[in-house]
Amino acid sequence: MTSVSLGMPSAPPPVLAPRRKTRQIKVGSVGVGSDSPISVQSMTTTPTTDINATLQQIAELTASGCDIVRVACPSADDAEALPIIAKKSQIPVIADIHFQPKYVFAAIEAGCAAVRVNPGNIRKFDDQVKEIARAAKDHGTSIRIGVNAGSLEPGILKKYGKATPEALVESAVWEASLFEEHGFHDFKISVKHNDPVIMVAAYEMLAEKGDWPLHLGVTEAGPAFQGTIKSATAFGALLSRGIGDTIRVSLSAPPVEEIKVGNQILQSLNLRPRKLEIVSCPSCGRAQVDVYTLAEQVTAGLEGMEIPLRVAVMGCVVNGPGEAREADLGVASGNGKGQIFVRGEVIKTVPEDQIVETLIEEAMRIAEEMGDADGEDALKGSPVVSVS
Ligand code: SF4
Repeated sequence: MTSVSLGMPSAPPPVLAPRRKTRQIKVGSVGVGSDSPISVQSMTTTPTTDINATLQQIAELTASGCDIVRVACPSADDAEALPIIAKKSQIPVIADIHFQPKYVFAAIEAGCAAVRVNPGNIRKFDDQVKEIARAAKDHGTSIRIGVNAGSLEPGILKKYGKATPEALVESAVWEASLFEEHGFHDFKISVKHNDPVIMVAAYEMLAEKGDWPLHLGVTEAGPAFQGTIKSATAFGALLSRGIGDTIRVSLSAPPVEEIKVGNQILQSLNLRPRKLEIVSCPSCGRAQVDVYTLAEQVTAGLEGMEIPLRVAVMGCVVNGPGEAREADLGVASGNGKGQIFVRGEVIKTVPEDQIVETLIEEAMRIAEEMGDADGEDALKGSPVVSVS
């Protein structure tokens, strides 16, 4: 059998702008800032007290490409669950703390990689910064100062009237200065708003004021369709200028969907190596096959593909052969048949009802060759964890 050249790029693909220089912090094993790859985060939706369910969801997130996971800690029972979750999670765990400062200390003691604090709604937060900074430093725990439009400090809200970019940034910079006065520098900042325009303006302003790593997020972005577009638009505006070191897409949808969207945003901007990429035409009056169904079936059949693979699914012979030739694998359809291309060469022509299975077979063959070369599974199965 002739071996297939997989077309791995020898130089890094181009990006739109160099990363903004920041200080670098650690969230457990994951570096955040400056030269560290931009990481993707999500948050569990299970009750943190349900340790098994939370660890299962973290395992699913890990398998889908999540780098860092956040868990809520609204009660003493949640705080008690943190040590085992932090220990058993495959990826660094951030505890998300609201209202009660005592849970900040509990999360640090529990071995969480980081703690997210929202200064606007933690009681007497500013008075606690010295102790928080000391405890975090002693345990090697980093912090996220997470300012949110929905919970700005009353004084700042009164001054600005609403959560303007200036208000969000003033709150963040003030809290940053408190941590820095106490000699603590291992923190990143977020200034989230549900309006992408305000959010982008706030992050641009904040990026000018210090070298802090920035966690990007459009808060309460909405259901999957709207939230994906809002997040992609806002993150794209910032990342294309080098601003942003870790991202969280907030969707009213299962957290794995957030990771898929976050990874796709980074891959689209060449900020993360591309994996599976489906190049499919929108179809038009010339289409000789059902392109929508074909593209959906191929995408579903290749879900979980861990190798960089560009698959072209084209509806007719106008642009079909050209795109299929440029891809690693492709089909150009016409007259009830599909010409199957692998790295620019037609390897076979199959009837329309065999196009999907043939593409998937060929993709698996390429994946296996690459998996063998890497010593890894190119396709990953569903993860399962158990807690003893
Ligand atoms: S590839 Fe053919 S069917 Fe698809 S959009 Fe282009 S012209 Fe239309």
